[in-house]
Amino acid sequence: MSGTLYIVATPIGNLEDITLRALRVLREADLIACEDTRHTRKLLSHYNISKPVISYHEHNERQRSEELIAKLEAGANIALVSDAGTPLVSDPGFTVVSNAIARGIHVVPIPGPSALAAALTASGLPCDEFMFIGFLPSKQSARRAKLAKLAGIKATLIFYEAPHRVKTTIADVLEALGDRPAVLARELTKIHEEFLRGSLSEIAGALAERPARGEYVLLIGPESEGIADTVDSTTISEEVDRIMREEGLDRKSALKQAARSRGISKSEAYRMLIDEKTEE
Ligand code: SAM
Repeated sequence: MSGTLYIVATPIGNLEDITLRALRVLREADLIACEDTRHTRKLLSHYNISKPVISYHEHNERQRSEELIAKLEAGANIALVSDAGTPLVSDPGFTVVSNAIARGIHVVPIPGPSALAAALTASGLPCDEFMFIGFLPSKQSARRAKLAKLAGIKATLIFYEAPHRVKTTIADVLEALGDRPAVLARELTKIHEEFLRGSLSEIAGALAERPARGEYVLLIGPESEGIADTVDSTTISEEVDRIMREEGLDRKSALKQAARSRGISKSEAYRMLIDEKTEE
C-alpha cells in the first residue's frame, strides 16, 4: 500500500495561522519535505514537532521527486510544505504532485494561508472573478508581452512581487493596463500589515516617497470597477495624533481606539508605534 502525499499550507507571517489539521498531519507524517529545512525547523520547533525533514526546492525538484515517490510507494506518508503559505502557489511542488498522481498515489490538500487569498479578500476589489498571475517575468520585454495579454481580461488580477521590483512593476502595469483601481497589500498577517488602496497612479505616487520593504501582493481591479477610495496609508502614529486632535482623547485612549479600528490588540498597536518611531 502506498503512503499519502499531503500538501500542507503553513503561515505567511503570523505563526498562529496554521490549522489544527496541518499540525496533526505534520506530527503524524513519516517525513516532511520542505523548501528550506532551516526555515521549516523553526516552525516545527515552535509547535514542538520533531520529525525528519528533507529539502525539496526548485534546484533539486526533479531528482527529489523520484526519491519521494519511491518512499511513498514504500508506504511512507509525506507532508510537503513551502517556506510560506500554500505549496505550489508560486512555490515548488508541481513535479512531485503530478508524478504522484500519475503513479496512482493519494494526494491530499491541507488548506490554509495563501497571500493571494488573504490579499484578495480584504482588498475591496471584486472577488467573483479573479486571475492569479503570480510573479511577472523579470525581463522587461517578457513582462510587457505578458501584460499586453492581460489587458482585455475583465477580472481582478493578482500579482506577487519582490520588494526591489515592486515600483517598476507598478509602472509597467500602469502603462500596459491604464490607471485602474488597485490595491497593494504589504506584509500580510505581520506587524506592519498595510493596504494601499486607490488608483494605480495614486499608489505609485505614495510609494515614490518611501523605500519598498517587505512582501507585496499587487491587485488590479477590472476597468471602471472597484473602489473609489483614495490611498489610505495612514501610519498608526498619524492615526493616534488625528484621534487626539479630533476627539480630544489622551494618547493612551487614542491608541486604544486606533487599535480597535485596525482590529489589533493594544500591545500590538503600541509595538507598531514604537517600530514606526525607530524606523524614522
Ligand atoms: N506559497 C505562497 C502563498 O501561498 O502565498 C507564496 C510564495 S511566493 C515564493 C512569495 C511571494 O508571495 C512574495 O514575494 C509575495 O509576493 C507573496 N507573499 C508571501 N507572503 C506574503 C505576506 N505576508 N504579505 C504579502 N505578500 C506575501
